[in-house]
Amino acid sequence: MALLNYTLPTEGLAGSFIDGKWHWPDSGEKLAVENPSRREVICEIGRGTKTEIDLAVAAAERARRDWSARPASERGAMLTELGNRLSTHAEEIARVLAAESGNAVRTQSRGEAAGAAGVLKYYGGVAVEQKGETLPLGPGIFSYATREPLGVVGSIIPWNSPLQLGAVKISMALATGNCLVLKPAEDAPLAVLRLVELAADIFPPGVFNVVTGLGEEAGAALASHPGIAKVSFTGSSEVGKLVAHSTADRIANVTLELGGKSPCIIFPDACTPERIDATAQGVVNAMRFARQGQSCTAGSRLFVHASVWDDLMPRVAEKAAAMTVGDALDEDSDIGAVVNAERYDEICAFVAEAEAQGATFLTGETPTTTDAGFHPIPTILTGLDNSWRIAREEVFGPVLIAIPWKDEADMIALANDTHYGLAAFIFTHDMSTIIRMTRAIDAGWVQVNQGGGQIPGMSYGGIKQSGMGSEYSIEGALEAYTFRKCVTVAI
Ligand code: NAD
Repeated sequence: MALLNYTLPTEGLAGSFIDGKWHWPDSGEKLAVENPSRREVICEIGRGTKTEIDLAVAAAERARRDWSARPASERGAMLTELGNRLSTHAEEIARVLAAESGNAVRTQSRGEAAGAAGVLKYYGGVAVEQKGETLPLGPGIFSYATREPLGVVGSIIPWNSPLQLGAVKISMALATGNCLVLKPAEDAPLAVLRLVELAADIFPPGVFNVVTGLGEEAGAALASHPGIAKVSFTGSSEVGKLVAHSTADRIANVTLELGGKSPCIIFPDACTPERIDATAQGVVNAMRFARQGQSCTAGSRLFVHASVWDDLMPRVAEKAAAMTVGDALDEDSDIGAVVNAERYDEICAFVAEAEAQGATFLTGETPTTTDAGFHPIPTILTGLDNSWRIAREEVFGPVLIAIPWKDEADMIALANDTHYGLAAFIFTHDMSTIIRMTRAIDAGWVQVNQGGGQIPGMSYGGIKQSGMGSEYSIEGALEAYTFRKCVTVAI
């Protein structure tokens, strides 16, 4: 099937990948994947269900003893090889990613393809760090603990960074000796399937399997499958709670990487004439306007010290308004499209409600229902109350709310007045303030004077309803994907 300038090379590529082979669901049912910028179907994928999940889990179960017995260096070398292949095909895959997710190819999708390759190479290198411990228990006994894989891992990922998250899930599970069944998001499975195709002849059959399908069908079947020792879920807090219930029912291990409503806090010293431009750009970056605001870490609640409000806010608004919104595959676009009609309509409803409640637009507008591509423009609202829905719930669109503050303690209380705790952004150059604030704010990841993306090697994860467990680092992988097996030997 022709996909832009890219042709899906393998018959059945858009089906599931089970036991080393492509597989169309027995039902023959398909789901359409749409380009949200152009509103055109680019591919149809198999609508896998419990039947395919059962097959995939069985294949992974057959493969896991052999896989976990291999030297860690061998498993690592395979991940490195996949990372190298992804680097070689990065441009083609970035275009697939832009087409299916709506994330602009120049500002987002190229970086995501490179980042995903970086994750695979990082885990390729650190797989050998799956080390155990010895315990000093005295002369009559020798005791040690090894780090053992959990078994078959089920991973479920969203559409907003599908390739990066696919690479993280594959890397963490396989580096630690587990086998994997991965369910990509139904809106954006194609870049992951292309990665699978690159991986098909690297890993033994059954070591990693992918089942495409709907969340409530294939996803729910995976999360509740008795053969799945661990579920690693990235997505909304709402679905994360369902997944947590499924795993609790059978005492399975679970990692949850969920939503956010992250504060971005501006101190006056970040707005001196020399710094104010970089700070304004940092706010725009932290908000992830270039990703349509569709990032779990988006700094979507901006707290600006009242003394610098009049200097900073026009600059932030100007920078946001100057971004070019358009077709995700157009090199001129800074910002692409929101992934689907449902998400677009949700964003419209959030902004319309805030407008009706009396919020003021510093830039942007209430988006209107559209039959064309889903392209809301960057929007900054002020004059609102922290109790409003737009201040409390994750909008997952290019909508920033801005609140002036005077008293630090009051501002900290407001910043922490959320059931999320994923990220926070602090703009100040005063070391005492940095340390005071990083201690005071409830968040798994605090960025100071920047708004960047996750980096392989750093441990990343949220608190409160933003999740539990951490990813992106070997320490996170060892904690989340292995258990300690203790051995005591009488001498
Ligand atoms: P979502 O929760 O709707 O879907 C995520 C995945 O779960 C998809 O593959 C979906 O098919 C599947 N799913 C849906 N219902 C399911 C069910 N009942 N059982 C099992 N699986 C099910 O989320 P989304 O809209 O795809 O993604 C956006 C959300 O993801 C946002 O809340 C965002 O903050 C979050 N996110 C978090 C991180 C992080 O690392 N913390 C990263 C990216 C996205």
